[in-house]
Amino acid sequence: MSAQGHAEGIVIAIDGPSGSGKSSTAKGVARARELRYLDTGAMYRAMTWWMLDQGIDPNDAAAVAEASPRPVITLGTDPAAPTVHVDGTDVAAAIRTQEVTTNVSAVSAVPEVRERLVALQREVIERGRREASGIVVEGRDITTVVAPDAPVKIFLTASPEARADRRSKEVNAADIAATQADLARRDQLDSTRADSPLTQTADALELETSNLTLDEVIAIVVKLADEAAGAVEGSTPR
Ligand code: C5P
Repeated sequence: MSAQGHAEGIVIAIDGPSGSGKSSTAKGVARARELRYLDTGAMYRAMTWWMLDQGIDPNDAAAVAEASPRPVITLGTDPAAPTVHVDGTDVAAAIRTQEVTTNVSAVSAVPEVRERLVALQREVIERGRREASGIVVEGRDITTVVAPDAPVKIFLTASPEARADRRSKEVNAADIAATQADLARRDQLDSTRADSPLTQTADALELETSNLTLDEVIAIVVKLADEAAGAVEGSTPR
């Protein structure tokens, strides 16, 4: 039984391109409903950081595939203080550098990397369902591959300008045009790779966030989560 007495906690899956507001929304929803929070992008970034640290060329897919089972990647799922460690080292800041951002799409396109990280993600999701009221998971393939049966599936979008503006503020970048070009490059790679590309499915609710405040987006997702939790409770014999 989970903390709120559900037989199983809820899973809220949120996908979307960079800068669409996934992280802020997912954390806000998790905090509002005391759910756990999983940033799957942080896992791909941690894998990329480790490859660079080991001197492995992120564009050498065979070398990346071969090395991919080695790093021990652990994420803390408290939405108020998410953590990420590789082999026991705190890499929360290191995975946000431009070098990691530039190389992460190449590493995340390697099937062996995805296979390993998706398995880890499913373990974390299962723990969130069993040991807590549930979990909010954000990424690029959560609604399609990692948790396609999640009762709440959201695809966040925003205009390229809004996304670049948000991302520039997050990383304190002065050059919004350069940030927009970087986001477009990463989206192109993430949407066209062969394995689990970023795609929007018909059964995920699209939320266009350009003209919504963060609080408004959080409120919409919380309402959907409450409705889904009610439906699940209603159908579960006590
Ligand atoms: O969300 P964030 O921008 O931190 O993600 C970094 C990168 O990780 C993405 O550009 C994408 O290449 C990869 N990613 C992925 N699948 C996910 C989450 C992130 O391929 N579920």
